[in-house]
Amino acid sequence: MSVSLPVFRYHPDPVASGSIREAAETCACCERDRGWIYTATFYSADDVSGRFCPWCIADGSAAERFAGEFVDSFGLDGVSDDVLHEVTRRTPGFRAWQDPHWLVHCRNAAAFVGEVGYAELTAHPEALAQLRADMRLDGWHDEARLEQFLTHLGEAATAMLFRCTVCGDHLAYVDAS
Ligand SMILES: [Zn+2]
Ligand SMILES: [Zn+2]
Repeated sequence: MSVSLPVFRYHPDPVASGSIREAAETCACCERDRGWIYTATFYSADDVSGRFCPWCIADGSAAERFAGEFVDSFGLDGVSDDVLHEVTRRTPGFRAWQDPHWLVHCRNAAAFVGEVGYAELTAHPEALAQLRADMRLDGWHDEARLEQFLTHLGEAATAMLFRCTVCGDHLAYVDAS
């Protein structure tokens, strides 16, 4: 029996990204075993595991009941309140070394694709170009070192890849332990 998971505009394939996996586990919100469980971040003052089914994430019931958010609003500048709430309260987050943050493009939240290395990034030259520009702004002035770092992404450091929900361009940020 195949079950179709809810559609998450800003995290289209949470199974591929590893944020939701198939498991016989009871949802901390609806207290039912729906066969799928959320495994990534949930920030709440309440003492709750954050192990929710995808449906309680999608309809906002988990975030509302436990007054929490799946992702920090840090970085989500210039988007409408509706988009901000959809990403923080009704979209699965993801695991990262650093506190995860969401990228914005074309004044809308981007869709999270997943954690990638250099090989995957080369398929999206615009994401690599944007990473280079961001890193130069961050003080990487030695081009050889910068390229060395980028080509080793996927080892000690990785990239979090997003796709713009408006223009379709890919963008990324670097995550490291
Ligand atoms: Zn549930
Ligand atoms: Zn865009």
